[in-house]
Amino acid sequence: MDNTKLLNGFFDRLSPEIEIMIFDILPLPDLARFSETRTGNQIDVANYMVRRRDNIFKTFVDDIPLFIQLLKFTESIISGSNALNLIMPQSQQVVAHNIDVYTTEQYELVVVEYLKNQEGYTVADKISPKPKYDGSAIARIYKLENGEKKIDIIVTHWKCVIAPVLQFHSTIVMNYITADDIVCMYPKWTCNRKGFINPQLYMEDKTNLRTVEALMKYTKQGFRLCAEPFQLGVHNCSRSINCPHATRTTVDERMFHWNINNGTAVRTTMMDCWDMPIIVWSLGGHGCMTESNRRSLNHILVAA
Ligand SMILES: [Zn+2]
Repeated sequence: MDNTKLLNGFFDRLSPEIEIMIFDILPLPDLARFSETRTGNQIDVANYMVRRRDNIFKTFVDDIPLFIQLLKFTESIISGSNALNLIMPQSQQVVAHNIDVYTTEQYELVVVEYLKNQEGYTVADKISPKPKYDGSAIARIYKLENGEKKIDIIVTHWKCVIAPVLQFHSTIVMNYITADDIVCMYPKWTCNRKGFINPQLYMEDKTNLRTVEALMKYTKQGFRLCAEPFQLGVHNCSRSINCPHATRTTVDERMFHWNINNGTAVRTTMMDCWDMPIIVWSLGGHGCMTESNRRSLNHILVAA
């Protein structure tokens, strides 16, 4: 049942404390639907999400507005558990000890130098995972430290900064924060605490102890992870974009975009003027249950 509709009639009579308690148990796509019901609700949800984002950012940086400008100028994004935290209800938030900033080679030095000079970080380590050999979209990782604070700068040699996110172990973590948006690529599954394991892990033999540990971390948090699409719900393979074999794009209707500046869910038709290149992907994997043994490899392409 859609609880947001039920609540709306009485919502303005609640004290701000009770309102926050209700917000704290709703995932962002539900908050977005609720915010559309009344202007007052829209303002409250908008302010609530800015506060939540800034609370995460202030753990890692002193100057939040300048950091956001850096993200905008360099088209960098935040992904990993901090992005998932903003999609899931505040009450289910998991403390993250570091923040993952994704950037392209074009802006790599701008981002690293900014965090060194403006925020007092030092480079503790620099790792190059040899992307040409393992197909990884990651060219380098800088491990930055400033006392207890830790930032990983993940650099991709791809033109679109989102490419590494699509190589994550499961759909649960395919979320990101830009200067203007909070984005979830698989909102329906994620909000229901379900995730599809990236077929790349087992079809291209990429499973290792670290990915198993990462997957276990999420199952311990109550997420249900499946490698079999129909365990996540029945879909019509030929028509549904719920099928992992379906070709998706970063501007399709299944993407969830929350614009943090004006506090609204962005409609796909309004995303033409996006600065970021459009990315096209398919998760692929083994054929769905009702099909024969069709296999499709996952793919990621930069379209524009
Ligand atoms: Zn299917």
